[in-house]
Amino acid sequence: MAEGLALLRSVADSLDSLGLAVCVFDDDDNCLLWNRCFFRFFPEHTHHVYVGEPYRANLRRFYQGRLVGDELAKIDQYIDAGIARHRAQNRPYALEHLGVRLWVSSLPLPGIGRIRIWQAHTSATDPQGPTILATTAIDGAALFDHVPDGVMVTGADDRILRANGPFEQMYGLPNRTAAIGAHLEWAYRTAWQGQESQSPALFEAGLLTLSEYTRFTGAPFELPLPGARCSRVIGQRSPDGKGFWAHVDITMLKRQQEQLQVAERRARESEAILQEKSALLEATLANMDQGVMMVNADRVVVVCNRRARELLNLPQSLLDSRPTLDALTDYQLAAGELAHVPEEVLTAVRTGDIFNRPYAYDRKRRDGRVLEIHSMPIAGGGVLRTYTDITERRHAEERIRHVARHDGLTALVNREVFLESLAAATVAAEPGAVGFAVHFIDIDRFKPINDNYGHAIGDKVLALLADRMRAVARDGDVVARMGGDEFAVLQCKVERFEQALGLAHRLLEGIGRDMEIESHQLLVGASIGVALYPDAGLDADTLLRNADVAMYAAKSHGRDCVRVYGAHDNPASVY
Ligand code: GH3
Ligand code: MG
Repeated sequence: MAEGLALLRSVADSLDSLGLAVCVFDDDDNCLLWNRCFFRFFPEHTHHVYVGEPYRANLRRFYQGRLVGDELAKIDQYIDAGIARHRAQNRPYALEHLGVRLWVSSLPLPGIGRIRIWQAHTSATDPQGPTILATTAIDGAALFDHVPDGVMVTGADDRILRANGPFEQMYGLPNRTAAIGAHLEWAYRTAWQGQESQSPALFEAGLLTLSEYTRFTGAPFELPLPGARCSRVIGQRSPDGKGFWAHVDITMLKRQQEQLQVAERRARESEAILQEKSALLEATLANMDQGVMMVNADRVVVVCNRRARELLNLPQSLLDSRPTLDALTDYQLAAGELAHVPEEVLTAVRTGDIFNRPYAYDRKRRDGRVLEIHSMPIAGGGVLRTYTDITERRHAEERIRHVARHDGLTALVNREVFLESLAAATVAAEPGAVGFAVHFIDIDRFKPINDNYGHAIGDKVLALLADRMRAVARDGDVVARMGGDEFAVLQCKVERFEQALGLAHRLLEGIGRDMEIESHQLLVGASIGVALYPDAGLDADTLLRNADVAMYAAKSHGRDCVRVYGAHDNPASVY
């Protein structure tokens, strides 16, 4: 018994390094020995437990720390049940103590009493029961088989003294006794036999680990095994040089760790991609020429890029305060920026209709610049608004429109515009109301100027004559260049025949005045045909054609004169 106890003592000490707590009891349930780990799991026993202490006293301390209130009053019942369980227990069971989940095994020790062994239960350890090494000293072969992990005991010369079934399976040994007298390296080589070429690097790495562990024992190490398996070896030497080694199959754990690493790497990668994308988006938003604003479903302005700030003239401090769309609208109203916003749009902002349907409109700013604004609801709530400065585009469009409607040489409106104005005048004129007159003018003897002085001088003459005709016409009259040396005037509000003749005369007089162009003294005249509404026609085409007819009549009458259409008998028709 004493010899058995001494051996148990050395084994219990060596089990400390495996994280196993041990307490041995005699046949009368009195404490015989324990190890340091026992105090780690059950600190309440520190400085209290002593050799010969009844298990009952030990249990009382344990329950005093655990039970409270009514339960504490029933402590003796708990202790009785604990002792009964201690004696009858033949299967490991789990308990939680001081936040640690423990597996406890209780086994009879023939000739001594009973041993209790506790192991902290983590996901890495097999839940079936603690690794029991201690009992090897008493009846190794029988007790080893209770252990799910591989166990080997080595002598001072590192040769294997004992090994259990799981050890034999882990390394694929022919039988348990085959390992006796061999080194662990032999078991390792046996495990790899015939499969070294499949993963030579792994196999060699394991050999290296083995050679190092024999030189520096102490730290746990891992041995790769064929079939992507892995064994973690945890050992402790007793003072007499014996080694107690647990070989835990950590294949699953390794796989889980690898999966976790892959998942972590993927998460890091997708996070990096996300960060890159968001940086790209930020850079795009900051540098784009279009203003962008995003308002969330709570009407808070969550994005307003640099360009939008500039275009809307919004202070950064206002945006930093995460304003609502309403606060922003109030600010812009006060700044006079919304004077030209359609009322319908302002109402849509106030009522929230812009969150329901798209809006597009132009806004003229206080400084005259024009913004094109698009407002688009976002799926899931909120609205995205874009702001584009279209001032230059507007100017260009206006220039194009102007060019399309004006004569480049004289800056007068062209034939199309004249016909439009004439058509509008016929539509607007009501029967019996004040009429209007169409003057058709062809310059007399213009061609010789081109021929004698060149086309450029001819152009200047046409431009000068256009200015003179414009000066003669009244506001509201339309003066047009019809093409070549032909012009036309739409004279508004003509109540009397004489009024039309009066303007024709003034035109004739203006055109016929001397001109000095580039020190050339020049003189032209004009033949003017007049058509009066409604006498000379009711529609634009007829009126223009009849004015043209009258103009030719003036030409054939000798030029420098006026003819009024349909007034041959009127002496005033020739001026
Ligand atoms: P008439 O007295 O019968 O009206 O003869 P005219 O010399 O005025 O010549 P006409 O009206 O028959 O022809 C007009 C001329 O004006 C013909 C063309 O060479 C010239 N012309 C037409 N367009 C332009 C222009 O843009 N610039 C210049 N310099 N001359 C033009
Ligand atoms: Mg002419």
